[in-house]
Amino acid sequence: MSKNGPRAGKVFIISSPSGGGKTTLAKRLLASGLGLVQSISMTTRPKRPGEKNGRDYYFATAAQFKKGIWQNKFLEWTKTYGWHYGTPKKYVAGLLSKGKNPLLIIDVKGAMKVKKAFGERAVLIFVAPPSIAELKKRLKKRAADDKKEIAKRLRIAKRELSYIKRYDHCVVNDSVKPAVSKLKSIIRAETCKTRAKDL
Ligand code: 5GP
Repeated sequence: MSKNGPRAGKVFIISSPSGGGKTTLAKRLLASGLGLVQSISMTTRPKRPGEKNGRDYYFATAAQFKKGIWQNKFLEWTKTYGWHYGTPKKYVAGLLSKGKNPLLIIDVKGAMKVKKAFGERAVLIFVAPPSIAELKKRLKKRAADDKKEIAKRLRIAKRELSYIKRYDHCVVNDSVKPAVSKLKSIIRAETCKTRAKDL
């Protein structure tokens, strides 16, 4: 609690290369009772099997996305793997004003923009694969992608890994349980941090 009521929430951002395991880890975190609420992005990429509009993403047409940019509805947006992705500004602001902690699962470029906008209130966590060789193995296991696509994702992954030093924390995802445990510790510590204005 601060003097003026509930303590303002923090924005948690998780980034990881494709195949890094962020979706599994994020699901566990959201279910762990730490007060995290997922921010649902808007995207122009097609829905994958099992995905639900409004739960995984807001699936939009290119025209709807452009309208969102134009109306300044995104906290940040980016184009990656050929599709547009954007974080809704109003939703994140609403959660923060209620003292909740939004969890954004976004790429490195988006993470940098959110850090710039929120400063210390944004906590950047990078989930890294144990090695490039392991990442390649994981991408190959996902039957969805062909050889060319895997090579492209690996190229992008190497570029993304160069951003680690700009993140507040890095968790190596060699196995799910210990990685979730480390992530929970980071979130607990960050939400317990003191700030002079709160004392
Ligand atoms: P996917 O298509 O596999 O769900 O996501 C592709 C990439 O886009 C992932 O790195 C994911 O974290 C990122 N992403 C998803 N939503 C957003 C968003 O709103 N903003 C940004 N910058 N990246 C996003």
